[in-house]
Amino acid sequence: MKAAVVRAFGEPLVIEDRPDPEPGPGQVRIRVEASGLCHTDIHAAHGDWPVKPSPPFVPGHEGVGLVEKLGEGVAHLSIGWGSPLWGRVAVPWLGKACGRCEHCLSGWETLCERQINTGYGCDGGHAEKMLAWADFAQPVPKGVTAVDAAPLTCAGVTTYKALKVAGVSPSQLVAISGIGGLGHLAVQYAKIAGATVAAIDVTDEKLELAAELGADLVIDARKHDVGEVLKRYGGAHAAIALAVNEDAFAAVNSGLRRGGKLVMVALPAHGALRIPVFDTVLNGTSVIGSIVGTRQDLAEVFQLHAAGRTEVICETRPLSSVNESIDEVLRGQVKARIVFDLGTGR
Ligand code: NAD
Ligand code: ZN
Ligand code: ZN
Repeated sequence: MKAAVVRAFGEPLVIEDRPDPEPGPGQVRIRVEASGLCHTDIHAAHGDWPVKPSPPFVPGHEGVGLVEKLGEGVAHLSIGWGSPLWGRVAVPWLGKACGRCEHCLSGWETLCERQINTGYGCDGGHAEKMLAWADFAQPVPKGVTAVDAAPLTCAGVTTYKALKVAGVSPSQLVAISGIGGLGHLAVQYAKIAGATVAAIDVTDEKLELAAELGADLVIDARKHDVGEVLKRYGGAHAAIALAVNEDAFAAVNSGLRRGGKLVMVALPAHGALRIPVFDTVLNGTSVIGSIVGTRQDLAEVFQLHAAGRTEVICETRPLSSVNESIDEVLRGQVKARIVFDLGTGR
């Protein structure tokens, strides 16, 4: 099978031929149909974060495909189009969690200290085949294509969860900073939650896309002071920080209304946030980190899509274009998401 491999941080990925991986106990092997390129894969390939993956590894945590082999003890999944309700499975960032710790038991498996992350702590989806822990391979409802399911598997669940964490309600103003892979779905979930949505970006195409997807207000951060514009509308009840840029976090934070919440999601390399203590205290604002979502959150994301409530904007490419695709994401030239089409139809 072919796989896109990070051999050293900061170097181009190498397309390699590898033997098909053998599923261990509790695992399945998946014939990948589609695999989304998340900005996190780029951070992984560059070794941007304090906790680093170990090259060589295959990135990708938006892999979607059909189960082709069951490991020992797997009884609830079957090979191919097994069930009348679902066929494909999706393999998210949360590859596995322990299921026993306080976080797992309290509905916060995303905080499990013993979790293994797909495409980071084990090989991921940018390959023709991949392994997954069966309990964390999420069934994709029939009717949701592999290409649509891929971006939902990280960009979708992460922003859906961030809006839950923000506790958004219909009368609120929500600022979405960064309309990329994550942001284009965040705008839609904020609209579904009933909020008034302000979308912020630095390219015309992204701002146009946000307006097409229902944003009520678009703010070009190149031309306007984001905080001032938001304050003109009374300030945001919540701001979801998705732009890979620390200054963008501070800018949107300055547009919160009293009691507002900044939800940090993007993970710029060596990122640190400087915000005024005085304003944070006097205004009673909160700064919250939010990491992906649980299996239940992902199930809800797929249900919304199957019901026709969300639209995935993406371009499909062959896996061989992985390095050019990474460059385009870094230049901000991708409309929303790139999905590698691994050849088994949409
Ligand atoms: P992306 O590159 O597709 O989108 C980033 C967007 O930010 C682009 O549209 C870009 O034009 C815009 N932008 C750049 N500078 C800006 C500025 N100053 N102000 C406003 N917008 C600006 O990336 P993505 O795949 O959506 O991922 C975004 C970030 O989220 C990455 O750091 C990624 O690692 C992180 N991430 C976090 C989680 C989590 O669970 N916390 C999950 C997935 C991704
Ligand atoms: Zn991701
Ligand atoms: Zn746990």
